[in-house]
Amino acid sequence: MAEVSPPEAPPLVKAVADELYKCNRCGFCQTRCPIYRATGLESSVARGHVARLQAALEGSLPFDDEIRSSLFECLMCRACTAECPPAIETDRAVVAARASYLSERQSRIQRFIFRRLLASPALLRAGVRALGWLKRTRLTVFAKLLRLLPWFDRGLSEGPAMMPAPKTFLRDRLARREQRRSQVKRVVYFLGCAIDYCFPEVGEASLDLLEAAGYEVTVAQNVCCGLPPYSYGDLESARALAQKNIEVLREFGADAIVTDCASCSSFLKDYPELFEEGDPMRAEAEAVASQARDVSEFLAAIELPDDLQRVEAVVTYHDPCHLSRYNKIVREPRELLRRIPGIEYRELPEADWCCGGAGSYAMSHHDLSMRVLERKMENIRSTGAEVVVTPCPACIMQLRYGAAKFEVPVQVVHLTEMLRRALSPEERVPERTAG
Ligand code: SF4
Ligand code: SF4
Repeated sequence: MAEVSPPEAPPLVKAVADELYKCNRCGFCQTRCPIYRATGLESSVARGHVARLQAALEGSLPFDDEIRSSLFECLMCRACTAECPPAIETDRAVVAARASYLSERQSRIQRFIFRRLLASPALLRAGVRALGWLKRTRLTVFAKLLRLLPWFDRGLSEGPAMMPAPKTFLRDRLARREQRRSQVKRVVYFLGCAIDYCFPEVGEASLDLLEAAGYEVTVAQNVCCGLPPYSYGDLESARALAQKNIEVLREFGADAIVTDCASCSSFLKDYPELFEEGDPMRAEAEAVASQARDVSEFLAAIELPDDLQRVEAVVTYHDPCHLSRYNKIVREPRELLRRIPGIEYRELPEADWCCGGAGSYAMSHHDLSMRVLERKMENIRSTGAEVVVTPCPACIMQLRYGAAKFEVPVQVVHLTEMLRRALSPEERVPERTAG
């Protein structure tokens, strides 16, 4: 076996380099890779990524643009890992390789976004507000003009159509919300960026449910969880954001840290891996990880009010990758849906196949993302469901876009929105002004 010592490799690269040599070339990973299914290319699938990374680590293939583009095509959905006999963690290998590229070639704009914007709620808020204003006014025209430029990535010009732009963010709404008090049951709510800026009504539904179950909810003043920079290979920015959040979260003596973003919940649980053994932050990261709960697992484990209202609807469920394969939460959201009287639940074919959303993938790789999405939408159509439920804001964004693009007559909602309908139908109004 070849000696593996990648030059100037970050810790994660060394960890996954050993992993790469477990590959036996069986090709089982081909059966479940959405990107391989779309392209039919060996360079798209885990076996291809592994072979190229092995060659690059041994020095027979340079880390250059030839392998760079295929590595950035990976959705990091972990479907291949589920099929792989030695369970090779392709997503970690891909991140390690991206980190190697990024250490030399990060653009200034990306550096600014990951290091400054995501670390500053005030800046991020101002930026999202400006984007929302542009979307509601002129950006759609601007985006159409951009599409005329042959070299402009079409996905970016689709961004305004994909991203919701609510007039008020969740933190603004929460400032007007009357908090329920409890001496015994307390949770911290970790507020994900996409929930705050794109889907505030989801956050309100989650808080309604937690409070209806008797919990006092404290909303943490957290920053971005760090997953976006991590996914692009900017481990330093991911670590810095994680550190900020750990410093915020360690102050609370709550039963759990609950979030309604599947990506945030899985990344909070992965915080310890960002810090090396012996680093004092690692123990603190472990404490946060042990308290982190996705809202679906938390709600499934507690007592919900026993007078749930009937909701007459044919419903199906899409598994977000970060919930089903990263968090291993599959049964709980389905059980919660089945608890709602009146719901006719229909299982979705290929429910745990990635929808192609994968963070900003639909913008960075628009055409590939749409090919993956089309398959998902046809599966949803085949169920005849009126509502598709999924507990991930990125999936909601992608599936709503897919429903419009592929003309599938289905409503896409978060799990907590669906549950709240059963809790109190009169609270369905999207914007409340309580408090
Ligand atoms: S993580 Fe997903 S997209 Fe990437 S190689 Fe594996 S199955 Fe394919
Ligand atoms: S399934 Fe795993 S072991 Fe088999 S070829 Fe793919 S990566 Fe290698």
